[in-house]
Amino acid sequence: MTLQTLAEVLQPALRQGHAVAGLVTLGWEDMRAYVAAAEAEGCPVILQAGPSCREHTPLPVLGKMFRHLAEGASVPVVAHLDHGYTAEDCRIAIDSGFTSVMFDGSRKPLAENIAETAAIAEMAHAAGVSCEGEIGFVGYSGGEGSAGTDPEEAAQFARETGVDAMAISVGNVHLQQDKQGGLDEARIRAVEAVCQIPLVIHGGSGVPVAQRRALARGSAICKFNIGTELRMAFGAALREAVNRDPARFDRVQILKETHEPLVAATRTVLQAFKGE
Ligand SMILES: [Zn+2]
Repeated sequence: MTLQTLAEVLQPALRQGHAVAGLVTLGWEDMRAYVAAAEAEGCPVILQAGPSCREHTPLPVLGKMFRHLAEGASVPVVAHLDHGYTAEDCRIAIDSGFTSVMFDGSRKPLAENIAETAAIAEMAHAAGVSCEGEIGFVGYSGGEGSAGTDPEEAAQFARETGVDAMAISVGNVHLQQDKQGGLDEARIRAVEAVCQIPLVIHGGSGVPVAQRRALARGSAICKFNIGTELRMAFGAALREAVNRDPARFDRVQILKETHEPLVAATRTVLQAFKGE
């Protein structure tokens, strides 16, 4: 059993100078490949159930799948709720065996975000579960624009909520299919200067790999969420598997062929987050 909380994998990352991937899962095929890749690389992995994953599969089922994979894994595995929007989302995740919950109050006014996140962090900690919050707003490619994290607000948020990890908005954008943006390192340094907790970058797919590597080793950023990049790898492998034989109809046979390409793509992602 290598199931761990978010704090258990991020505190060593903060001290030792590496980062842990928060990998966005959509189903059994990708979560299984992510754990195989983490085992091959000998590093921890955070399996994340976000809103679109939960829309497809109920949280109690996802909790069982994550825990089953963790039980058989040789590396630490975190069962993480990504973008919980209500205390109820977080409570169901905790009851379903998740070891970490993210409460996203980033669209709310500061005082409300702090108060609600603090209450959820308290509920999570009472159950032995970690909590991630978000300060500033990380926008969406082709959708809502971002609001950069203010360092003073971040310091207040970290102090008053008691979260184990803090997602910040520093030039990162969700759902990016290319890596042209890059993060605002001056803003990251300003946040680091006033906070001592592990920082999280959502929208990690849009961050150039060289910058991921440098920040994993040389900043308080301890978690990069990666979704789009690996969804694209899975989609390409699936399309190829389907097209290879038009007569084939058994989905397990088709999905099997996505495993190796996805493991390979995931290993490449994980390598950039390792320490020296
Ligand atoms: Zn996110």
